[in-house]
Amino acid sequence: MHLEDFSATLNLRKSNESYYGHYLQYWFELNQIEKNIISLSMVVDESFSFEPLKESLLEMDCITDIEVHENLLEATINMEALKNINTIEFFNEFFAICKKSGVKPICKLCQINLPNAYFKHDNKIFPSCNECVDDANRLKKAIQSPDLRTYMRGSIGALFGALLGSVVWVIIALIGFFAAIGGVAISYAAYMGYTKLGGISNKKSIIIIGLSILVAVVFAEFVCIAIELYRHFSADGIEVGLLNIILITFYILGDSEVFGEFIRNILLGLLFAGLGSWGLLKDILENAKATNALIEEI
Ligand SMILES: [Zn+2]
Repeated sequence: MHLEDFSATLNLRKSNESYYGHYLQYWFELNQIEKNIISLSMVVDESFSFEPLKESLLEMDCITDIEVHENLLEATINMEALKNINTIEFFNEFFAICKKSGVKPICKLCQINLPNAYFKHDNKIFPSCNECVDDANRLKKAIQSPDLRTYMRGSIGALFGALLGSVVWVIIALIGFFAAIGGVAISYAAYMGYTKLGGISNKKSIIIIGLSILVAVVFAEFVCIAIELYRHFSADGIEVGLLNIILITFYILGDSEVFGEFIRNILLGLLFAGLGSWGLLKDILENAKATNALIEEI
């Protein structure tokens, strides 16, 4: 007897390598453990006496082990011993013993109601009641359509974080090291700022964080040139105010060589920001996928 034929008797649904379905009032899944050995598991209310149940079930020839752990009752079944028994008879006897022992199937989410079906979310499959799934899906839909204020808050956080990160860039440049490495700090700080102010994870958040990083990198490189100019004037004993330094920096950027260097550093900075935030961006996309996906019946 193969698991597939065994499952077909009750029209169980297959997902990956497991079979899910119900019989009488019970919702359960079947898994192949090794050759000729399968497990039957179901989410149950633990308020029944386990020992009498185990004793009764082990009297069935094909049951080799019974365990219960965190609401999951698991029976190990030897398919060899099932050869001479009608499958339906096996299930009838198995669930009759469960019923007699007070085993009650429950929804995995609320752990109160009877399940209505098996549901799938984020690669996990579990029995649940319709109420729990409806509530969870309603919440997900609300999260998926965040209001403008959520985005505004997230944007402010990302920009503020990125600008804080640009301080690192400027400091590295002042010490005389390769400033573009500061792109890593900028991207990290932008991400932190975004999440700290409650920005949610979706594809738009990548654009918001990306733009904040761009602004901060350009700002950091601009400040570096301005500081260099200020040092230059100071060395010559010339006092220049902040506004004038900013204007002169813009003027200097008109020079193609300076501008080329400016753009080159920005691109390098963005490259480092991209490398530094690759893992973070992946997190965002994965979170977005998990939160966007609704719980679906299998
Ligand atoms: Zn429920």
